Amino acid sequence: STFEGLGMDPLLVRHLKNKMHVERPTGIQRSCLPHMLSSPLDPDQLKDTSTPLRDVLIQAQTGSGKTLSYLLPIIQTLLPLSKLSYIDRSIGTLAIILAPTRELAQQISKVVEQLISMSLTLDEDDDRQFTRWLVSGLLTGGSTRTHEKARLRKGVPILVSTPGRLLDHLQNTTSFQCAKTMFLVLDEADRLMDLGFEETIKGILRALEGRRKNEIQIEKEMDEEGGGLMRWGFWNRGRTN
Ligand code: AMP
Repeated sequence: STFEGLGMDPLLVRHLKNKMHVERPTGIQRSCLPHMLSSPLDPDQLKDTSTPLRDVLIQAQTGSGKTLSYLLPIIQTLLPLSKLSYIDRSIGTLAIILAPTRELAQQISKVVEQLISMSLTLDEDDDRQFTRWLVSGLLTGGSTRTHEKARLRKGVPILVSTPGRLLDHLQNTTSFQCAKTMFLVLDEADRLMDLGFEETIKGILRALEGRRKNEIQIEKEMDEEGGGLMRWGFWNRGRTN
């Protein structure tokens, strides 16, 4: 079978081949992709609330291609956003990938960077400028908290992080926009648990839910008073590993 046959955008397939030398899906990718490739977002309907909640659990050995198994569906879902000429920074973070160690987070971040460098391979008649919108960011405590805060304030659609640092920002960085986060990935979930991150991850889930509810509350108030104001959507989370 081919990536196209599994439902992937030909643009992404071409990029995988030309830039990453990835041509045929691995076994785990064949199993996962058809279930995880949701219909692309309509950029005009960022407030759409109808995405059903879906959890996916992937169990596969290292080297089996599991990173792309969850990154490709995320990238493909967010792909239409790259058409936006105006970037509404308040959209904030849409996908969060958690990894147990700084090293793994860095590796994942590199793959994300490769995937979003796609504008280089666009045809001339294709106006999708992928990297214009899909900024990625890494939070591991490797740089100063102030520096990370500044990046979050600007908006980081795809975020790779270690758990402690993410919870820290969720609790202390008020400008961190994550009311619309729709993907949460726990990479190496078993190791996250072995390393004692269970409580931290529960804290992250609570904080994400809390932020979302606050945002909706605020929107409701604005709507009642001002009418006609943009209403934020309630994003569901696709949790994968
Ligand atoms: P992972 O299991 O995610 O750590 O991936 C292991 C390695 O396999 C990485 O270097 C990937 O770039 C590579 N890889 C992932 N999917 C494919 C594929 N379909 N064809 C060839 N290489 C792949």
